[in-house]
Amino acid sequence: MTYSYTQISQYLTCPRRYRHRYLDGWQEKDTRAAMLFGRAFERALAAYFLREDPAAALFREWSACQNLGLQYSNGDTWDRMLQQGIMLLDRFCQDDRIRIRQPRRNLQIKFARPIGGGNEFVAYVDAIGKIDGTGCLLEWKTTSSRYAEEPDGLLALDPQLVCYSWITGISEVAMVVFVRKRLVEVQYLRTTITDQRRREFGQLVEDTIRRIESAEFLPHSGIRFPQNPCSSCPYVGICLGQQQLVNATLVRKPGAEHLDWLDELAY
Ligand code: SF4
Repeated sequence: MTYSYTQISQYLTCPRRYRHRYLDGWQEKDTRAAMLFGRAFERALAAYFLREDPAAALFREWSACQNLGLQYSNGDTWDRMLQQGIMLLDRFCQDDRIRIRQPRRNLQIKFARPIGGGNEFVAYVDAIGKIDGTGCLLEWKTTSSRYAEEPDGLLALDPQLVCYSWITGISEVAMVVFVRKRLVEVQYLRTTITDQRRREFGQLVEDTIRRIESAEFLPHSGIRFPQNPCSSCPYVGICLGQQQLVNATLVRKPGAEHLDWLDELAY
């Protein structure tokens, strides 16, 4: 089996959700505007580092999504998101804080690590480069609200960065957050992941895989009003037995468990 960060994090969110997604093959429909915009924006960033025109790349990639029946949230529209994307690219170019040498090799890099029992763990890291002159692993994020920066050190607990630090062995990590809001903002968040956090993540991976292989898929939704994760879970229609909710959010692709690592390319 090939495992990925997305797969482990789905299990840790709710084991039943993992079962719906990876064993039964239910997937969220790929029409969320924010997610597709994030992909288009990442391609624009790649164009920037390859010394191509990033705004043209964004327009091309985002135009390809325009007629997909996109589902917008927070009052977004296709035009507004494009405009915000171009402003974010401008800001990023002006800041000029990130350097990536040999971008064809150092963008979207695949890492694989054997994890015992014939399994392996695969991750696609957005980039390896420098931020303000310091070498580090880089992750891009597009979002409609700022990432929390306090309390100090919070970023070192980010499970995706810890995971990528674990698989690459790189302790210096950074997240570049492109915030789509009325006045766009780019956040440059950097932290160091300790050996202990990496070791603990390795243990978490082993423990999670043991539970998956033992077929432990009891739901634990963490229900506690008003923070009920089920209310935003795409699989709530299956758990409630409501077919119209299932039809609205999911498509079924049996056999998906063998292709789960491809999710890494989607975020
Ligand atoms: S709706 Fe709740 S119980 Fe069902 S998969 Fe989602 S989080 Fe788990």
